[in-house]
Amino acid sequence: MHFESPIKRRQSRQIMVGNVPVGGGAPISVQSMTNTETCDVAATVAQIRAIQDAGADIVRVSVPSMDAAEAFKAIREQVSVPLVADIHFDYKIALKVAEYGVDCLRINPGNIGNKDRVRAVVDCARDKNIPIRIGVNAGSLEKDLQKKYGEPTPDALVESAFRQIEYFDELDFQEFKLSLKASDIFMTVEAYRKIASQIDNPLHLGITEAGGFRSGTVKSSIGLGLLLMDGIGDTLRVSLAADPVQEVKVGWDMLRSLKLRNRGINFIACPSCSRQNFDVVKTMNELEERLEDIKVSMDVAVIGCVVNGPGEAKEADLGLAGGSPNNLVYLDGKPNTKVKNETLVDDLERMIREKAAAKEKEESNLIAKS
Ligand code: SF4
Repeated sequence: MHFESPIKRRQSRQIMVGNVPVGGGAPISVQSMTNTETCDVAATVAQIRAIQDAGADIVRVSVPSMDAAEAFKAIREQVSVPLVADIHFDYKIALKVAEYGVDCLRINPGNIGNKDRVRAVVDCARDKNIPIRIGVNAGSLEKDLQKKYGEPTPDALVESAFRQIEYFDELDFQEFKLSLKASDIFMTVEAYRKIASQIDNPLHLGITEAGGFRSGTVKSSIGLGLLLMDGIGDTLRVSLAADPVQEVKVGWDMLRSLKLRNRGINFIACPSCSRQNFDVVKTMNELEERLEDIKVSMDVAVIGCVVNGPGEAKEADLGLAGGSPNNLVYLDGKPNTKVKNETLVDDLERMIREKAAAKEKEESNLIAKS
């Protein structure tokens, strides 16, 4: 179960978003975005912390006005995670948040305005050592491109991106990453594939306005999954009409599924059937909820009976194979303890926590030695 991902990642140059490297072989970072009122500093700080606790490497905050820029200053002082400011229409807001310690500026070529404004933002970013995300979005393409293509297309997204890229080249500014988002999977995937072979700047992936929790997760998993399988993508945000904490969890699940990053428990569970010797679904749901705080990566198998139980349980760090009269827990591939249905979840939680603590100790010893 512990084999490496066969995905060969696209070579890209590296930028730093605060202390988080993006591109150049760095782990694919997970992002989310606050949906609180930015001027409500307390609520935004609380949400940023919740997003960070869920495992986000970078958090984006919308800064729609100068009042929000002032709020951003107060927010910046209270959180440690790298912050990206989302700027539309008014380039002066970008200059303001740069003063206030932003770690990356996201600008939208479709609405940031003329070259002088872009140059002002680039000069400021260069001066303060802040990278920029050029965020092209199918919903806000430049008017002339909308006219030229009639509707958003992959080529229209790429052309919009290249206008900024060429101008950034003229200004000799390479500290940027790029996103080309659409809510349509085919358009997004094609646009990213087209641009991936033409530039070496890091790419930020996302299917924009993907939908609600379930449909958006499916859409994002297919779209981003295709790109990630191609080795494309240096950072990602799963956009869901849901709690941003869920976006982070889904992002991690995607990366974990593709073995691109590890964090927390990778559960292997059978769907259950009438052969099950304990309630697999209930056990799985309870464990998932109780063990969300575990950060060390480990495989845990929860399998209802002896059909597939021993095989899967042996491959995991800790595995449960249903049996009668008792279920059997495997630890590090070997049968270890018998557990009764009545105390199953409590017993498993305790054993998983013990195993996680041992793994954490092992990992810190390894780091100390290296
Ligand atoms: S492992 Fe056993 S309980 Fe689970 S689905 Fe298969 S046969 Fe059913």
